[in-house]
Amino acid sequence: MTKFSDLNLNPKVLKAVEEAGYETPTPIQAGAIPPALEGRDVLGIAQTGTGKTASFTLPMITLLARGRARARMPRSLVLCPTRELAAQVAENFDTYAKHVKLTKALLIGGVSFKEQDQLIDKGVDVLIATPGRLLDHFERGKLLLTGVQIMVVDEADRMLDMGFIPDIERIFSLTPFTRQTLFFSATMAPEIERITNTFLSAPERIEIARQATTAENIEQGVVMFKASRKDREASEKRKLLRMMIDAEGEKCTNAIIFCNRKTDVDIVAKSLKKYGYDAAPIHGDLDQSQRTRTLDGFREGSLRFLVASDVAARGLDVPSVSHVFNFDVPSHAEDYVHRIGRTGRAGRDGKAMMICVPRDEKNLESIERLVQKEIPRLDNPLKSDRPEAEPEAERAPRPERRSAAKPAAKRVEKPAEQQVEQQIETPAEETRGAAPRDEDRSTSRPPRDTGAPRRRGDRGDRGDRGDKKGNNVVGMGDHMPSFIALSFEERRAG
Ligand code: AMP
Repeated sequence: MTKFSDLNLNPKVLKAVEEAGYETPTPIQAGAIPPALEGRDVLGIAQTGTGKTASFTLPMITLLARGRARARMPRSLVLCPTRELAAQVAENFDTYAKHVKLTKALLIGGVSFKEQDQLIDKGVDVLIATPGRLLDHFERGKLLLTGVQIMVVDEADRMLDMGFIPDIERIFSLTPFTRQTLFFSATMAPEIERITNTFLSAPERIEIARQATTAENIEQGVVMFKASRKDREASEKRKLLRMMIDAEGEKCTNAIIFCNRKTDVDIVAKSLKKYGYDAAPIHGDLDQSQRTRTLDGFREGSLRFLVASDVAARGLDVPSVSHVFNFDVPSHAEDYVHRIGRTGRAGRDGKAMMICVPRDEKNLESIERLVQKEIPRLDNPLKSDRPEAEPEAERAPRPERRSAAKPAAKRVEKPAEQQVEQQIETPAEETRGAAPRDEDRSTSRPPRDTGAPRRRGDRGDRGDRGDKKGNNVVGMGDHMPSFIALSFEERRAG
């Protein structure tokens, strides 16, 4: 078996690795470090949790230990899709470079340009950045990328999802042709393949098996859930989540709860808090200091439930998460792999449970195809809990009776859910090209509403129209010629 000492790393880096308590390199480290140290390009197909951050930071520190940085010309560049990931990479540099004299700067949104400018002006060995913020600095004329000798692209598939590929291509073109490139992606989508063919030169390709297909230590399950009534789906789903959490009892020491939409992240966190659960939200719209505070709290164990969007939680390294709850089935199967990979890390046992409503069954099928196994169906604890006695006065009006123009947010709900419920309306989906492309750009676009379009057949959409006319004909909508509703006698008389 390869040992760290076999890898030709700088002795000071080796010392830091030892102090971190690592005994043997992980497969991605054993595969990527030797070619990286030889100055070759590396294409690492691996996801977080495999030790991939050290697989590029350790050789980088070794290579950069020789030489000095020049003002405004960083010697290396690491691009990450989110601020949290960038901050995590920066922490890794601090850990492994503690015995080597290297300077670094972290360029992420939510931090003043001035502070970052000062660091760049002095000259840095390592620049860790999100693409938008990096280009903002470049366009302000504060940064030159012509001194970059090593460039890392981390989580390239997530960059693709977030619409960063044009920025990445531009950044590649601003760095010298002779640079060394270390490129990491969990999957090789055709667009990623194209980028690597264009910008990498004869890379050493290291592929690490997908986590979800091999992680036997993660117990998985899904509750198939159909609301008692469509307009109660959201609140019943939240109740189901609480019951699932409660059923786990003390085994659930902490958990990440994933929602597909930012608005749901907020609502679920708020609702849990209302019911006495120690929960806080994290997503791209929250300001950086709040995100950092929440994350730190979760890592330290002072926060038990982190309600998160895929983007915010991607790549987070929280070593001891006992549970992952998927409040929604992710619409992209790979996200399931990433989400459940937050638990069961470093060989620990973990449990991942999901709620699946009927319209998400297709997405569940794609997940099962990807992970190549059926996710065990769990009993729905809500079923035995029904019927729920609801005071007549508080019962929501039936959708058939509700005017189509009346906003659903006004409807009356159970008291404890009431305030939370009022915020539920066509939420904007996060990322996947729909959200503002880059939260770190100084000029971000407003979010686009990509809430599911109302289908024509939806009950709330049609009932009133029929009532108005009193004699509508199925399939004719509003454009019914008047004679259709008349009897033959009436037609003849008319
Ligand atoms: P990453 O895939 O970079 O997010 O790393 C996942 C976790 O594995 C982090 O907590 C690292 O500190 C840890 N780690 C990285 N390399 C090793 C190693 N060789 N042995 C044990 N743990 C490691």
